[in-house]
Amino acid sequence: MDRISEIPQRNSIPEQPMKEMPADPWRCAACGSLQVSCQVWVDSNTYEVQSMAEDKDDLWCDDCAEHTRQVRESELMSDTVEPWWKDGTTEEDREIITGLKRENFRPADDRKAFRNACDVWWRGKTDDGKIRIWRQAAAPEEE
Ligand SMILES: [Zn+2]
Repeated sequence: MDRISEIPQRNSIPEQPMKEMPADPWRCAACGSLQVSCQVWVDSNTYEVQSMAEDKDDLWCDDCAEHTRQVRESELMSDTVEPWWKDGTTEEDREIITGLKRENFRPADDRKAFRNACDVWWRGKTDDGKIRIWRQAAAPEEE
């Protein structure tokens, strides 16, 4: 073997690594965005946080550009996004979302195969992916 193979170029490491997200971050309850802020009282001397905002008026979502409630990601998943997928989507919705076609499945069993395939597709998504899909499909559009 006398052929020198080229060393494949490595992807450069991004200069600014993403800020680490907590495991169960706060998200906007209306649109699922992570771009949320809250007002806090800070001790003037120590800068220790004294109390967190609880009132909606003290919570803000950049993507809604509005005061909205905030929920933990796990809560958003279990209370909103998963129920939406289960009960809030029609077969037509699911065709659009998944790209699967009902006509490609046998119509037996009330299209169980199609519904199963959609659920498999859905379960393959991360929570973040699911929230994006829900947000696109179900969250009210903000101008
Ligand atoms: Zn929002």
